[in-house]
Amino acid sequence: MWLQHRDVAYSPQGIAKALQHGAQTAELAEVASACIACGACDRLCPEQIDISAMIASLSGGDVSVPEYDGFKMSCDANLQEQLSVDDLYIIDAQSFHANYAERLAHYDALKKATGCQMNLDLNRMAIATGISSRAASIGEFDVSQQIEWLIQGRSFKRIVVENPADKEMLAQLTGKLVISLAELIRSSEKHA
Ligand code: SF4
Repeated sequence: MWLQHRDVAYSPQGIAKALQHGAQTAELAEVASACIACGACDRLCPEQIDISAMIASLSGGDVSVPEYDGFKMSCDANLQEQLSVDDLYIIDAQSFHANYAERLAHYDALKKATGCQMNLDLNRMAIATGISSRAASIGEFDVSQQIEWLIQGRSFKRIVVENPADKEMLAQLTGKLVISLAELIRSSEKHA
């Protein structure tokens, strides 16, 4: 949201500062609802503040938790055989940041073994898509711009998503084939 607004109010730091200076929950409702609960700020905070929990408390704890376990599925050996250099693999940011050190090593190894690309930035943080989250329902949140950032400069034929809810919009906006991990695992079981 900060990248789109260029307004520090839409950043974890802006929200924390506003709280320190006595802002009320209602005044922060709009910016708090823009948080997609990816958890990246918890990892980056130099004071080790649980920022995502702070923001969740502002929005009444209304944070969507994925029902699937993308990380667990990504450990499936049959699935890994189906990934290739032609794939852009979209890690679910919430799951990734829940256990950063372990999962970073896992995804780095997966990337190396399969050659696929991933939504990791230069600091090895999983870039949150926000596509499937409640942020997509906020009128001013431009999901197409976010997808543009995500695929910029990348060459791939297929998108593989951990979160099946990301499929439709990614397919619509990129024109690429989009498949979920669960579908890939099911198809590998059929052929086993
Ligand atoms: S949890 Fe993610 S979206 Fe929410 S404030 Fe932190 S970095 Fe931003």
